[in-house]
Amino acid sequence: MDADDLDELFPRGDGLADTEATVGCPYCGATSVIVLDPGGGSVQRYVEDCEVCCRPWEVTVRYHGGTAEVRLEPAQDF
Ligand SMILES: [Zn+2]
Repeated sequence: MDADDLDELFPRGDGLADTEATVGCPYCGATSVIVLDPGGGSVQRYVEDCEVCCRPWEVTVRYHGGTAEVRLEPAQDF
C-alpha cells in the first residue's frame, strides 16, 4: 500500500479531524495540550482554565476541513 492508497482510505476532512491542539497560556505563557471535539461543530467557543495558573481562557476553535485553528484570549468577563 502506498501513500495514494492511504489518501483514499482516509480523505482529509472526512472523519479524520484534529482532536487536540497545543496552545500557549495568555497569562503565564505555559504551553498546554487541549482536547478538541470535532463533533462539536465547525466553530466552537468555550471557556477553559489554564492547568498551571488556573485563570480562564476564552477558547475559539474553527475547523477548516479536518484542521483545527485554535485561538486563546483572556476571558476577563467571565
Ligand atoms: Zn496559565
